[in-house]
Amino acid sequence: MTEKTLHIVGGGMAGSEAAWQAANLGIKVVLHEMRPEVGTFAHQTGNFGEMVCSNSFRSDDDEQNAVGLLHWEMRAANGLVMSAADRYKLPAGGALAVDRDAFADHITATLKAHPNVSVDYGEITDLPSEGMWIFATGPLTSPALGEAIAKETGTDRLAFFDAIAPIVYADSINMNIAWMQSRYDKGETEEEQKAYLNCPMTKDHYEAFIDALLAADKTEFHEGETAGYFDGCLPIEVMAERGRETLRHGPMKPIGLTNAHKPEEKAYAVVQLRRDNALGTLYNIVGFQTKMKYSAQTEVFKMIPGLENASFARLGGIHRNTFLNSPTLLDDQMRLKSRPNIRFAGQVTGVEGYVESAAMGLLAGRLAAAELSGVEMGPPPRTTAMGALIHHITGGAEAKTFQPMNVNFGLFPPLDGIRGGRKGRKERYKGYTDRAKEDYNQWLIGQS
Ligand SMILES: Cc1cc2nc3c(=O)[nH]c(=O)nc-3n(C[C@H](O)[C@H](O)[C@H](O)COP(=O)(O)OP(=O)(O)OC[C@H]3O[C@@H](n4cnc5c(N)ncnc54)[C@H](O)[C@@H]3O)c2cc1C
Repeated sequence: MTEKTLHIVGGGMAGSEAAWQAANLGIKVVLHEMRPEVGTFAHQTGNFGEMVCSNSFRSDDDEQNAVGLLHWEMRAANGLVMSAADRYKLPAGGALAVDRDAFADHITATLKAHPNVSVDYGEITDLPSEGMWIFATGPLTSPALGEAIAKETGTDRLAFFDAIAPIVYADSINMNIAWMQSRYDKGETEEEQKAYLNCPMTKDHYEAFIDALLAADKTEFHEGETAGYFDGCLPIEVMAERGRETLRHGPMKPIGLTNAHKPEEKAYAVVQLRRDNALGTLYNIVGFQTKMKYSAQTEVFKMIPGLENASFARLGGIHRNTFLNSPTLLDDQMRLKSRPNIRFAGQVTGVEGYVESAAMGLLAGRLAAAELSGVEMGPPPRTTAMGALIHHITGGAEAKTFQPMNVNFGLFPPLDGIRGGRKGRKERYKGYTDRAKEDYNQWLIGQS
């Protein structure tokens, strides 16, 4: 057994899972946690693995759902978060909901009882230059540490809020209505000149859309979040409240665009979508960050011509959320390129959700343990849920517009051969999950 030590900062979803994985691989782990000494606006206890809001790990369907597949992958790797969730599961239909107190008590007790884990309570405010560290300090990373990270990465590479515009699956966009064109055909190559997908609106469409935006249900900010953020990035409904024409002079301006289907018709307004991943399977609606409730978003966005049958990889939102510009800062081992003794894990790397955060903790714990043991190990293949996520955050995503991401099938490479030939969404999703399970098992076997 190696006597080398791994320091993990943050005993949330990611840090707890990272500690468990590394400790089980024979690594001595020191888990640093600032709570209960220093709190956050959302955490209520000093427990590890505290769920700050809902008590759901979302769908548990590992054949038809990407987050269910992530559950499966974490269970296959003997994940602590999943075994605690299974143990304290509550009835919730196809979702995996848990008794949050019993869940966090179990994680806390299990880690404290592990012979390779010791706990050090207190806030870490610097990025140490010695030793191996994983920072899993989450969306509510303490301000002092946030400052230290920003000093290392540059302030423009660390965000304190996410402003998420909805993301649509490319294959659900009606291309009989939408067309590809950059404003004023800008760009040197044909690809650049056709980088955007455009959805045209008549005056009637536009007026109805503004009415729906103004009437839609909105969510309020959590306590502790500030509205000052809005100066830089207004939600579309706030823009609409400032005047019915504001959006038509902002993100929905029609100038510099010609409808490829009806060149003689000038659109009154245009909604633009921009490619969100290298695969070209996902598009985000440009400038459409929003605080509308999820149900209202689907209703309102489907009013946009071309998006009437849109399927959303994720809906929009604006939250307090500290996260790195991982595509530029992290290598595929989740290490900070400028300081390779430091890894990041969890929501702070730009994934979104309890499950995704825990999965990135699992991976960081295993990668760090392998490095400390002198074993070469790569991330899982991108055909797996974990591999698709890590590939997205460390390179696949557009760095300029990078925003936190849930796991979804749009991040997976398209199916080929027999699986690709299957028809319909159900078969396609089954094709993704079958392929992922085979490849993930191979990856796991490769480590043992
Ligand atoms: C208000 C809010 C509500 C959310 N609701 C949901 C939801 O309902 N469902 C969902 O799936 N996701 C939700 N999320 C998103 C995300 O999934 C969770 O925040 C998740 O807990 C992230 O896991 P993590 O391990 O990255 O961070 P966390 O679970 O937050 O863990 C980070 C840990 O680091 C500690 N820490 C921070 N700074 C320091 C420091 N300097 N020194 C030592 N320790 C430190 C914190 O105390 C905390 O224990 C929410 C996020 C927020 C902010």
